[in-house]
Amino acid sequence: MSQAPKPEELLRVSHIPPKKDWMDPRVDLIPGTWGYPGKASSLETLGLPNPREWNPTDEDWKLPPNWKEIIHEGLKERLEKYRSLKVFLDICVRCGACADKCHFFIGSGDPKNMPVLRAELLRSIYRKDFTAVGRMLGTFAGGRELTEDVIKEWFYYFHQCTECRRCSLYCPYGIDTAEITIVVRELLNLIGVNIDWILGAAANCYRTGNHLGLEPHTFKGNIDFLVDDIEEYVGVRLNPTFNRKGAEVLFIAPSGDVFADPGIFTYMGYLMLFEHIGLDYTISTYASEGGNFGLFTSQETMKRLNSKMYAEAKRLGVKWILGGECGHMWRVLHQYMDTMNGPADFLEVPKSPLTGTVFDNAKSTKMIHIVEFMADLIHHGKLKLNPKRNDYLRTTWHDSCNVSRGMGMFEEPRYVLKSVCNNFFEMPENTIREQTFCCGGGTGLNAGEFEYLRMMGGMPRAFAVKHVQEKHGVNLLVNVCALDRAILPPLMDYWAPEVAVSGLTELVANALVMEGEHDRPTDLRGEDIPGLEGDE
Ligand code: SF4
Ligand code: SF4
Repeated sequence: MSQAPKPEELLRVSHIPPKKDWMDPRVDLIPGTWGYPGKASSLETLGLPNPREWNPTDEDWKLPPNWKEIIHEGLKERLEKYRSLKVFLDICVRCGACADKCHFFIGSGDPKNMPVLRAELLRSIYRKDFTAVGRMLGTFAGGRELTEDVIKEWFYYFHQCTECRRCSLYCPYGIDTAEITIVVRELLNLIGVNIDWILGAAANCYRTGNHLGLEPHTFKGNIDFLVDDIEEYVGVRLNPTFNRKGAEVLFIAPSGDVFADPGIFTYMGYLMLFEHIGLDYTISTYASEGGNFGLFTSQETMKRLNSKMYAEAKRLGVKWILGGECGHMWRVLHQYMDTMNGPADFLEVPKSPLTGTVFDNAKSTKMIHIVEFMADLIHHGKLKLNPKRNDYLRTTWHDSCNVSRGMGMFEEPRYVLKSVCNNFFEMPENTIREQTFCCGGGTGLNAGEFEYLRMMGGMPRAFAVKHVQEKHGVNLLVNVCALDRAILPPLMDYWAPEVAVSGLTELVANALVMEGEHDRPTDLRGEDIPGLEGDE
């Protein structure tokens, strides 16, 4: 934690409003709270405008000479295209119901992190340039001039919003500040203002099919290593197929699960589950990413990244797509896929070959979530489970924003978790389900340079975990998002040490009784399972 102060210091959040008027756009770039700029090479790969070397700490951001016109035209186009945007900008009554609901405001005390004021940073420009009263009365009507300082302010504060939509839940008018953030980030991309942790990953996806930039042989090689680990810890040799034409199901997971700890244990879980039920599936080394960093860049990039999954399903001639544990992959699937790339009529409506359940909810997208697939298998008694293998764990459930608030998936993961683990404890009601708190690092804020911001923004989530840690001895925070699996471990180390993080399918696989398995004194991480000796 090089950039974040000690937890005791970070806890001293001041909510005294600053003396500076909110209309003043100048920002102090606090180390640890802003991202390094998009590299020229990343912009070139993605075909984005104004590739150059620049630095947010420089006075001159090397914007195109006509940048003001580009932003103005970009906003005009989006106001015409998205009626919701115009409505969101017009109807806010400043009631303040959203003000204290954002984890970044709670953790930082910075008024510009109140959702109402964050939106006002765009609304004030809209009002000045696009409304009659703003054109006539200017600042008296809440309008602001579009200046380079406004662009810098947007860069700072719209990369301090994780598009989690918690604020929208409390807004009596349903104003979705996440959608405003998406639009502003898109406008910034029109003039080459962006961060490389997002663009680098999206560019990797264009080149190699996944955010991590793993080439097909490396991607397959990593999965082969996981197969070796399963053989060592479970005693069963698996043979997953790659790019196999004619398989029934194409399985796509976030690439973080193929590469990084603790996601790799979730991937081992997927492989074991599919072996256990004899699923006819294949993995693609081309569409090797389920996640979609286009969501944090532009609608066009999001659409392209989403489309490659469907192009690959068509090429391989599968019937339907099964998706792994991810957040933004599912937000894109659930909220945008159908109008961007759908309906995927060349595929079949997903039908479980084990239970016969037809997933009508995926009638158009033809893609279902591993959690709903597993819940259905368990409900029909298709998995042989020994939950006692997870008895050393005391778990709680983190509702990942995109899967829970974004998709409405609340019960299925809890049902699966309780089926494979005897010790489960909910966090306080106002921090779970629809009201869940963000991990603090979604939408591309998981870069090292955002460390301080993540510890601030993740504070409300971490405190709810700490509560059940102290009350019930919780030692594992379970979730279904690859970014959560990357972001939550350091957050726990900082605020609630001794709480580990895992994916859900990892715990399912720990409990699975595999045909031909040897004695399993360890879990999938190769760690001894306390208290299990002699029980099996
Ligand atoms: S979407 Fe989430 S991060 Fe963004 S302003 Fe709303 S509560 Fe804050
Ligand atoms: S809750 Fe809705 S109407 Fe009230 S201030 Fe926030 S965005 Fe505006």
